Amino acid sequence: TQRVFSGIKPSGDLHLGNYLGAIRRFVPLQDTHETLYCVVDMHAITVWQDPVDLKRWTYEIAAAYIAAGLDPRKSIIFNQSQVVEHAELGWIFNCVARVGWMSRMTQFKDKAGGEGGENSEQVSLGLYAYPSLMAADILLYKATAVPVGDDQKQHLELTRDIAKKFNHDYKKQIKALGGKGDFFPVPETLATGPAMRVKSLKDGSKKMSKSDASDMSTIYMMDDADLIAKKIKRATTDADALPSEAAGLAGRAEAENLVGIYASLSNRSVDDVLGEFGGQGWGVFKPALADLSVAVLAPIADEMKRLVSDRGEMDNILRDGAARARTIAEPVMAGVRDIVGFVR
Ligand code: ATP
Ligand code: MG
Repeated sequence: TQRVFSGIKPSGDLHLGNYLGAIRRFVPLQDTHETLYCVVDMHAITVWQDPVDLKRWTYEIAAAYIAAGLDPRKSIIFNQSQVVEHAELGWIFNCVARVGWMSRMTQFKDKAGGEGGENSEQVSLGLYAYPSLMAADILLYKATAVPVGDDQKQHLELTRDIAKKFNHDYKKQIKALGGKGDFFPVPETLATGPAMRVKSLKDGSKKMSKSDASDMSTIYMMDDADLIAKKIKRATTDADALPSEAAGLAGRAEAENLVGIYASLSNRSVDDVLGEFGGQGWGVFKPALADLSVAVLAPIADEMKRLVSDRGEMDNILRDGAARARTIAEPVMAGVRDIVGFVR
């Protein structure tokens, strides 16, 4: 069976996009794949994180994984910093990857102010090297299947380049140590059905994001029913009625987003949802969407609250996950140290 690795940064409260685009899609994989789900706290600190918040969000994400249906006996659930090999392999990959590769990453350019790096005095060196650490996260377990959204496609491509370059640079040594070919497998994006890209409730051209400054644009997994209803009611839309089929949503980004969320939450197709709501106005659709969102999210939020209230128990789960992760990581890392030529 293929091994899956994915992670979420503890850099803010989890939102509907993280749920529909990531967490919910992780759950069925634990029955078909060997699965590792990480809370990537070392990635989170590439931008400043208050240490108290960082801990709280780390527990919150681990709790969300479990509340959404990940079983800590089936999946390895852990936080990245507890398996120090991530940092060790990340360093080696910093020495495999090229500066030019990192400079081309659009996510970095967005934050650093383009190729010229106008904000480069403001952004951390860690943010620049982020993709090498991500490559380490995946390749430390020789994971071959990575369920990530479009926002991570470019980074995953770089992981593939790092795997290939490592295999190539150390070809002789890999062979000398008895390896038959490549040391690292080249991982692939794992497509798990139509992946919903949830957009901001205030701007249909922007993705919903943990680090969005406007709270009204984002539905958080822990929002209560009233707040969810209020945010959906105030979501930006046009004034037209809903079309009766998906094609009618073209050019209507906000409408497309809300209908897409409804379809995704109810596991129905957009056409099916529009078959029901076509011709209706937002006064009918928005309350229905609010009810559905609450019906899906409230039980998960309740379970998350219960789980995070017992940090001792969460610590046990994360420590156990880290120990199991290390049993996979350690032999891989031992192989890497030998290949690179580190004396032990
Ligand atoms: P940040 O703003 O700090 O980058 P984020 O909300 O983008 O936070 P990440 O930790 O970067 O969250 O991503 C975690 C996972 O959630 C990734 O698999 C990513 O593809 C997915 N994801 C993030 N935002 C969305 C969204 N709006 N719709 C669907 N999936 C999303
Ligand atoms: Mg992100």
